[in-house]
Amino acid sequence: MNLDNSGLHQLVATKLDEAGQMYTQKRQKLVDALSQAGPCTLPELLEFSDGIAQSSAYRNLTVLEEMGVVRRLVHHGEYGRWELSEELTGHHHHHLVCHSCDVVIDVELPTHIEHLMDEAFEKAAIGSKFTVDRHNIDIVGTCANCQETAQA
Ligand SMILES: [Zn+2]
Ligand SMILES: [Zn+2]
Repeated sequence: MNLDNSGLHQLVATKLDEAGQMYTQKRQKLVDALSQAGPCTLPELLEFSDGIAQSSAYRNLTVLEEMGVVRRLVHHGEYGRWELSEELTGHHHHHLVCHSCDVVIDVELPTHIEHLMDEAFEKAAIGSKFTVDRHNIDIVGTCANCQETAQA
């Protein structure tokens, strides 16, 4: 796959620079891998980012998370999952989360539904004098693989 992530790298570089952090080659590789792989676990991420040791990848992900570059999708499973923050990608989406195996699948809702939800959330927040910036909503259920396993 031919990656043109120059715009993305520019954004990340600026963000890190403002925080006095270096945008090292390893961090660039992780961002490339995440842009390719979608929400993934550390072992999955390592398959995409050749040559980075697990401990080093984890440390760098933690820094990138603190900088708001990546978001850790925390679920009850053994592994965390990471994805690039929506703020950077500009790609608003939701997650289908399997409660059995913790797989996370990106899913988009129609724009008019997003608008309706935003209106509903703003209305719900008015009573608490709360200003709404954004929403994170997971859709929880059972993935196709786990349904098959359950039937077998
Ligand atoms: Zn599953
Ligand atoms: Zn949404």
